[in-house]
Amino acid sequence: MKFEHIGHSYIQYAENVARMFFRDGTDVLVHTELVRGDDTTRLSASVFHDGRNEMADIIVNNDSASYIKDCKHNLGVCVFNACRAVTGKELPFGHLCGVRPAKIATDILLSGGSEEDAYRHYVDDLRVFPEKARSCVTVASEQIPILSRDYEKRCNLYVSIPFCPSRCNYCSFVSHSIERAGKLVEPYLAILIDEIKSTAKLIQSAGLTNDTVYIGGGTPGILSEEQIKRLCGVINEYFDGYSEFTYEFGRADVATAEKFAALIGAGVTRICVNPQILSDAVLEKNGRRHTVTQFYEAFEAARIAGFDNINCDVIAGLPYSTEELFADTVGRLIKLGADDITMHTLALKRSSGYYEDSLVIDDGLAERSFNAAESLLHEAGYREYYMYRQKRAGGNLENKGYALPGKKSVYNILMMSDAATVISVGAGGITKLVADGGKTIKRVCNYKYPYEYIEKPDKITDNLSFIKEFYKARGGE
Ligand code: SF4
Repeated sequence: MKFEHIGHSYIQYAENVARMFFRDGTDVLVHTELVRGDDTTRLSASVFHDGRNEMADIIVNNDSASYIKDCKHNLGVCVFNACRAVTGKELPFGHLCGVRPAKIATDILLSGGSEEDAYRHYVDDLRVFPEKARSCVTVASEQIPILSRDYEKRCNLYVSIPFCPSRCNYCSFVSHSIERAGKLVEPYLAILIDEIKSTAKLIQSAGLTNDTVYIGGGTPGILSEEQIKRLCGVINEYFDGYSEFTYEFGRADVATAEKFAALIGAGVTRICVNPQILSDAVLEKNGRRHTVTQFYEAFEAARIAGFDNINCDVIAGLPYSTEELFADTVGRLIKLGADDITMHTLALKRSSGYYEDSLVIDDGLAERSFNAAESLLHEAGYREYYMYRQKRAGGNLENKGYALPGKKSVYNILMMSDAATVISVGAGGITKLVADGGKTIKRVCNYKYPYEYIEKPDKITDNLSFIKEFYKARGGE
């Protein structure tokens, strides 16, 4: 893809809009221009592709109170219109190219607007498909009771376990397969536990209360029963009063009844056991090394251990899958009584095996699978409550969490919002510090890879100092 931009700095936005229409490597030229006259500004985009050329333009008044915002938005509209004319494609989320499509509805509802106002804005102004607009509004209405709380003196803890039994073909997560990095687990845990202790002390001195704990991966289920007890024991010793404790167990091939019992014993309230697709053949062809039987056994073992909130992740659009198979997967999870089902759309992530193999995602398969499964979820009483989008996702679709009444995860809502602080510990952890009602947001990143995290602990000390200073400036010790 080639781009030319003249007279403006909305380059990234314009290119992101165009990338929703064209895959990397497509022979296309997108030319955008801003020309400011005495009274008005002309924004335009021309797109050259496949022997065709389409152009779109919009005029903005120079004395508009929101001139810069108008220029940026309308330049995106021009790119969208020109790309749409050249390709004939309609996009489910219209002009929207951000990661949080429901945020607009949330903002409208929080500022006193109605659900109908939000819906109309998506459909009329942003050209979002009606069913996606409705879904964004549903997500927002599910989140409002949680996002309306005051989080100024509250935080959440994320703990990263970046190890997996093996690497799935579609995954780009900074996760080390246990075959290659098994010897790193113990030294990693030692540093992680120190970081958890230091973080707890810092939270206390900053006068914060911790609301939720989320241990994610990777595959946290890879830890042994003893390691699970040690890790969760430290969390319980240093953090109390949390209302939700999620352990993203992950893959069924590492599940044992003893590990689930240890997790229940440690006060974990919510667990994720992720099948992705209930087909041995498709799992195998996507390099996900567990079986359908192992998933069913793990789910049952988690229930027997006492978990009354089990999340299951699935992926729409996996190679070798079909829409029938995907709908059947979701139907079986509903029948099984999964409390929370997170539906992802396959995305071509850089540094995944599929990206290296230049896989072309089947957009139609992703769309048909997603739509068929979503109908089943709605019919069964699940409601979507959080949503995000990823680049290069099949059909430009979203990832969405659906829960039965009373089972939605507060952490999932908060971590996708700008409402509350999430302090992340471990390799790859990105801490988001939120203050002043969401007006101030600062991010602090730990090293990505376990070996760096282990070898350079000074980075952790520096990050903790930064967090300390952030809260000191706001009245903490
Ligand atoms: S998809 Fe999950 S289990 Fe597979 S490699 Fe990625 S993080 Fe690990």
